[in-house]
Amino acid sequence: MDRSVKPGDDFYRFANGAWLRATTPPAGQPNFGTSAMLIAKTGERVRTLIQAAATTHAEPGTIEQKVGDYYSSFMDEAAIEKKGLAPLAGELDKISAISNKASLSAYLGTTLNTEVDGLTANADHIFGVWVNQGFTDSQHYVFHLLQGGLGMPDRDQYLDSSPKMATLRQQYQSHIAAILKLGGVADSDTRAARILSLEVRIAQSHAPDADAADVFKQNNPWKCGDFNLRAPGMDWDAFFQSAGVADQPEFIIWQPSAVTGVSALINSESIDVWKDYLRFHLIEHYASILPKAVSSEDFFFYGTTLGGGHSAPDRASSAIAATNAALPQAVGQLYMRAFFPPEAKARAQAMVSDLIAAYRVRIANLAWMSPETKKKALAKLDALTIGVGYPDKWIDYSAFEVIRGDAFGNMRRAEAFNRSLNLAKLKQRADPNEWRIDPQTVGAVIVFTPNSEFFSAGILQPPYFDYQGDTASNYGSGGAGMAHEISHSFDELGNIYDAQGRLGKWWTADDLANYHAAAAKLVAQFDGYCPFSDLCVNGKQVVGENIADLAGLLVAHDAYVLSLKGKADAVIGGLTGEQRFFLAFAQRWRKVQGEPALRRQIQTDNHPPGEYRSDTVRNVESWYKAYEIAPSDKLYLKPENRVAIW
Ligand SMILES: [Zn+2]
Repeated sequence: MDRSVKPGDDFYRFANGAWLRATTPPAGQPNFGTSAMLIAKTGERVRTLIQAAATTHAEPGTIEQKVGDYYSSFMDEAAIEKKGLAPLAGELDKISAISNKASLSAYLGTTLNTEVDGLTANADHIFGVWVNQGFTDSQHYVFHLLQGGLGMPDRDQYLDSSPKMATLRQQYQSHIAAILKLGGVADSDTRAARILSLEVRIAQSHAPDADAADVFKQNNPWKCGDFNLRAPGMDWDAFFQSAGVADQPEFIIWQPSAVTGVSALINSESIDVWKDYLRFHLIEHYASILPKAVSSEDFFFYGTTLGGGHSAPDRASSAIAATNAALPQAVGQLYMRAFFPPEAKARAQAMVSDLIAAYRVRIANLAWMSPETKKKALAKLDALTIGVGYPDKWIDYSAFEVIRGDAFGNMRRAEAFNRSLNLAKLKQRADPNEWRIDPQTVGAVIVFTPNSEFFSAGILQPPYFDYQGDTASNYGSGGAGMAHEISHSFDELGNIYDAQGRLGKWWTADDLANYHAAAAKLVAQFDGYCPFSDLCVNGKQVVGENIADLAGLLVAHDAYVLSLKGKADAVIGGLTGEQRFFLAFAQRWRKVQGEPALRRQIQTDNHPPGEYRSDTVRNVESWYKAYEIAPSDKLYLKPENRVAIW
């Protein structure tokens, strides 16, 4: 804090002044704030847990053994080097044996996997899979099929004719050639050129980014029998058979043009080009656990050319990331045991209950929402599933064998395990409690389909949330953050999904118009923040997040009052509970950033700089009371200029 600053003149510096003066961003980081600090701290904890598991030689079959042995095997570069590309031999033989469309289709089916994040447009397999409830069917898990198959992440990198992108394509082609050469493939330059041109054709079939991300364009249910008619080329029976989904009656095709396009390419491209494409992507996919010559070439293109990085991350960091990816909830259990006990979860759940109770009252009293829409909002609130800390039911890893010294086999088995886990879901009822974030990740996730939100143990730690700490600070910091996220399920983003996470707008046109009218004052308020003489915050660009910040603060404050159950809060360190609540809110936004980073944020981010997010307090009556803000103070707003949307 900086107590020499008057809270009513500059609340952000009153709350954060000493920290701001004492902190500089770590080298290479343009910004540094609470999240970055927690990511660094949690990353260290996870590193320690995984490395400890690797040295204890735990009982076979335990999660400690699996985590420890996965990590050690990844770290055993000598063993990896010694094996060379031998681990790929079986798979390379299968590719070599492809002789016609049916065997090509069957092989492509085996590559269909679920390591793709459901929101990632591209992957190194021709399609991505997401097993989730349907857009209109909240009861069943459905097989969502997404476009994929590109080694570079953006469609434009293949199709844009600018010299910059043409150069990038040349660099990618050189990378393909280098990988083929390392794989012992003859004539690698010519074959690399043909692989690139196949990927360009795949990219041409992809939906443009705006369409690919448009949820209303993703909802294309295809029956099993539709594929042969609508997307000729692929032997779809062979494909689905080997993918393990031959009995699946319906699929949701996010980008039909990609399915049609890729399938046609099975017909039009030579089998040999497809086989080279598969060889390249096979080696590339496993680069991290193949000899150094391969992993260095992989970093050279993905880390340096595409990512702008100078040196590859140290092996231990890669091994930790790989272990987290293969055994997310096993590492999560170790994290929970060490840092987030059941009493932490119980306390976070109590805070969530207060937030929901506060929302119930606020929604009922909204001025801009019509009575029928309020009913729908309240039903959605009742149906909302909120997970905190860690899942109630962990993934059972007993069917996943991890063998020390077999890095490649471990990764293959991890993929097979995840695949069977996902395919098994297709036979089960959709479960809104299915966890969507790892406990050891610092973050929160909103899943509109189903209607769920998850806050990890990693984000529920000080200064956001201290399960042994002060309630007022927890509600002002973590509570406001959670209430912010909850608001998104009910705002313009959440408006397109109903209580069961089914697609369909539930606001009326009048609701929307009234909401925008109510937001206009907030737009104007943020337009007035000008950190540079030539650059002000763009109120329109950030209004969606500002509304969520304001809702978060108001609801968290209501929830804090509820938590007191009519009793007065204690004075701690000379501060009342009300003062600590708002102080914690201002402190959650602390951030140091240089001028270029600040300018970039104002120009491109839909979240305004932390200082102005902290200034959200100006709209809240209780803040004026808590800090005795006077009309002469710089942050003072006349009551009629204060905004309350939720
Ligand atoms: Zn937000």
